Amino acid sequence: MEKEKAILLKINGELKEIGAPSVPGDSVEEIYPRSPEALDIYRHSGSHLLAQAVLELFPGTQYGIGPAVENGFYYDFLTARPFSEDDLTEISKKMAHLVKQNQPIGREIWSKNQARDYFLERRQMLKVELLEEKVSGDEVSVFKQGDFVDLCRGPHLPSTGLLKHFKLLSVAAAYWKGDEKNHSLQRIYGTVFADAEALNEHLRFLKEARECDHRLLGKTLDLFSLQEEAGPGLVYWHPRGARMRHIIESYWKQRHYEGGYELLFTPHIGREWLWQTSGHLDFYKDSMYAPMAIDDLNYYLKPMNCPFHIMVYKSRQRSYRDLPLRWAELGTVYRYERSGTLHGLLRVRGFTQDDAHIFCTPEQIDEEILRVLDFSIDLLKSFGFSEFKIELAVRDPRITGKYAGSDEMWVQAEASLVKALTVRQLPYQRMEGEAVFYGPKIDIKIKDALGRFWQCTTIQFDFNMSARFAMKYIGADGAAHQPYMVHRALLGSLERFFGVLIEHYRGFFPLWLAPVQALIAPLNDDCLPYARGVLEKLRGGGLRVELDARAEGVNRKIRDAEMQKIPYIIVLGAQEQKEANISYRIHKKGDQGKINLSEFMQKIKIKIEEKSLNYEIQ
Ligand SMILES: [Zn+2]
Ligand SMILES: [Zn+2]
Repeated sequence: MEKEKAILLKINGELKEIGAPSVPGDSVEEIYPRSPEALDIYRHSGSHLLAQAVLELFPGTQYGIGPAVENGFYYDFLTARPFSEDDLTEISKKMAHLVKQNQPIGREIWSKNQARDYFLERRQMLKVELLEEKVSGDEVSVFKQGDFVDLCRGPHLPSTGLLKHFKLLSVAAAYWKGDEKNHSLQRIYGTVFADAEALNEHLRFLKEARECDHRLLGKTLDLFSLQEEAGPGLVYWHPRGARMRHIIESYWKQRHYEGGYELLFTPHIGREWLWQTSGHLDFYKDSMYAPMAIDDLNYYLKPMNCPFHIMVYKSRQRSYRDLPLRWAELGTVYRYERSGTLHGLLRVRGFTQDDAHIFCTPEQIDEEILRVLDFSIDLLKSFGFSEFKIELAVRDPRITGKYAGSDEMWVQAEASLVKALTVRQLPYQRMEGEAVFYGPKIDIKIKDALGRFWQCTTIQFDFNMSARFAMKYIGADGAAHQPYMVHRALLGSLERFFGVLIEHYRGFFPLWLAPVQALIAPLNDDCLPYARGVLEKLRGGGLRVELDARAEGVNRKIRDAEMQKIPYIIVLGAQEQKEANISYRIHKKGDQGKINLSEFMQKIKIKIEEKSLNYEIQ
């Protein structure tokens, strides 16, 4: 393969344009187009190209900021009217034209006054604002291509001709500086790669991601909805979604009882005292809903379940003989998220954590952490996820005084997390300084069918709340001690996990989770009595089955069932009735022939029991 031409240089660790001077002894590194570092520069340059095209096509438009983001870039514009799809097409054409012209991209150092005059003259008030806010010295670095000038530190590609493989993706409204009180801007998203192959691969990925978008499938399969007028970020579970939630919850509860947990139910609101004691009003108030006054006292909706579990702990004296205590709750919490950040089921304002708290003695934490880790991995596997990314967040050893809890506690807690990961030979990334102030933690992300990672499990020590609530147990020595407290959620939240399940399976769920496992499609009304008998028998056997009794042709019934991604379609006609058997089809695989009803039922039940991902009946 022909060696790719370097596009930039790194001289003594600093990025420079090709041809930048260096002296003997300098470390000079070449940057190649496909490297992550280069892609970031492509994307940054892509955003400038976009802004240049917009300004040429729509004079008078103000331009704001245009950063490179993961897999692409965007640029924010203040426009007289929103951009349309047609506008995007025109902008793309203009960008392609500028690429063809291969304009050199160059850096200049201007005085702050010169830059201010330049932008004031062009009535670019967003830029003037940025200049005043971000530039403290007298000089400012700008990049120029053609007539286009942008405030920027760079680096950039040397010329527009290198930006051939770009694609504008979408346009959305965004507030200036993310603040709802500011102007609403038009944000155009795009992406750019160094070669056509990489661009096309990314566009294929985006297409697939769109097809498995849980918001779209949630609608098609009638699983859930979000009702803006009734409150954004609050989830309505429709019958089929609710059925799946019931299955997930039942399984979760059963596994917790088997795993030595007890279940709790605690209130949804708590008095100010509770949140003051827990510290939430000091450091979490912005994420809480405003209080409601009852009998002249303020009550808050719960953003977390922990203080309630602690109250149960403190309801009586605890001895070391009572520990460990493992208390789980599917606790619905409410947190304020800015409306601009809400996203389907993935980012909501009300959600149900699959929460638990473990209270134990120092001698018990190694075993408890290992148990939680095993439990988490096993539970996630039973939902069909087999690849994980694990992060261990620990304190920054250079900063002391920032953290709650004693040094000894931190050392022991961290050691127990590392030990569990090591014993199970699970690779992990150590994130120094990433721990929150109250304790170290392990985060587990699952990989979905498209290769994306989703955060699910958190296993988090808490040295703060146990101290604030003055939790105690009487040790073997007869003295009072502070127990170790661990928060853990395995799936994360039911809403979010459901969203991930929908995307991972594209709505075609494993049999044990499918809201409707089989649909009965009779050929005509004469077969209805037989169909009703089959329905009753299957339902009696515990299967989730529906009957399509509409006066529609069987092909229509099959088509609709396929749209609903129902795993089995049972087709019944005079022949099946006569032979007292059934014909069945598998979603997307078509006709599978005839089978005896009892045998069908028996084999399916085994598949459900085994949580099989395979639908074929041998
Ligand atoms: Zn730039
Ligand atoms: Zn907690």
